[in-house]
Amino acid sequence: MKILKDYSLFKLNTFGILANAKFFVGVESEKDLAELFNLSEFKQNKKMFLGGGSNVLFTKDFDGIVVLNKLKGVEILENNADTVIIRAMGGEIWHDLVMFAVNNGYWGIENLSSIPGTVGAAPMQNIGAYGAELKDCLESVEAYEIGAGKKKIFNKKECEFGYRDSVFKNELKGKYFISAITLKLDKKEKKNITYKVLADFFERNNIKVKNPKDVSDAVIFIRKSKLPDPKILGNAGSFFKNVFVDKGQLEKLRNKYPDIPHFEENEAIKIPAGWLIEQCGWKGKRIGNVGVHEKQALVLVNYGGATGLEIMELANKIIISVKEKFGLELSPEVNIV
Ligand SMILES: Cc1cc2nc3c(=O)[nH]c(=O)nc-3n(C[C@H](O)[C@H](O)[C@H](O)COP(=O)(O)OP(=O)(O)OC[C@H]3O[C@@H](n4cnc5c(N)ncnc54)[C@H](O)[C@@H]3O)c2cc1C
Repeated sequence: MKILKDYSLFKLNTFGILANAKFFVGVESEKDLAELFNLSEFKQNKKMFLGGGSNVLFTKDFDGIVVLNKLKGVEILENNADTVIIRAMGGEIWHDLVMFAVNNGYWGIENLSSIPGTVGAAPMQNIGAYGAELKDCLESVEAYEIGAGKKKIFNKKECEFGYRDSVFKNELKGKYFISAITLKLDKKEKKNITYKVLADFFERNNIKVKNPKDVSDAVIFIRKSKLPDPKILGNAGSFFKNVFVDKGQLEKLRNKYPDIPHFEENEAIKIPAGWLIEQCGWKGKRIGNVGVHEKQALVLVNYGGATGLEIMELANKIIISVKEKFGLELSPEVNIV
């Protein structure tokens, strides 16, 4: 394990922002982790854990140590008649894990196909898409407390999952390194295809879903047609979270904007942040090196050479205009560093 100095993070964040880390190290095993926790460069500096860099925005150089998760391995812990329990190490690519499940006919994570990044970062914001969330099939999260270097196994409840949220993004932020997760997947058909965009896709194309691969193929196809590829255009997916309001707030908004889209989720009502941004005239707008994607107003893009601060300036302008027009507060989904 080698600690590198003044290391460029340019290729390690999908926004394609130029930023350096004072120290940088990749961990390949739990043994590496134990060693790392005892190093003075680790103990004496600010720390940041990095997976695929697909949900971070660097606004400056990182004046500390960046630890890249390269822990690999996927194993089947239990194989029962109806279910299978899978343990995946945190440095695995999330989409590869989805492909492993789909190709084996296991149901549960097919709706989460093509989400960039690593397995270890997935619990951070309880990744979600097309009507599914990680928490729907997560059993436990293994994580090392960085102070004591001790491993703790968090059950689902202890992860305090919410919409793009978890305990690791709140009280335990920066305190644990997620080393592995365990998922329970179904071997018997358990499709989740009521999400409107998916349901419409199957109906329009006259597809009868027979296996998780049918769903995964559809999700991959839909995502390709809507989302910019970070390899071509720097971005971190949805920059903002959707907004949740109560019935009273919704009624007030509907008086002024009768067409406002809204979806009931549990007790709350979700308003798509992309719609709010679009109504403020931001969709497809470009300011210098940065802009709002032409097909998806939730996605901010780097046209090349942008700094993290330029992205933040654009994000702040959007937040202000949505606040002025609708009285609603947008908050970033992306982790600002
Ligand atoms: C084109 C595109 C589409 C996207 N679509 C979706 C989507 O549909 N749904 C969705 O939920 N997300 C989406 N995202 C966001 C992103 O893919 C997910 O949040 C993903 O889980 C991030 O993984 P990562 O490994 O890249 O994390 P990183 O960006 O490397 O890290 C994200 C955060 O987690 C922390 N972290 C990373 N690894 C660890 C670890 N092992 N232990 C502790 N902390 C850690 C980091 O410090 C940082 O704060 C999209 C992103 C892009 C670019």
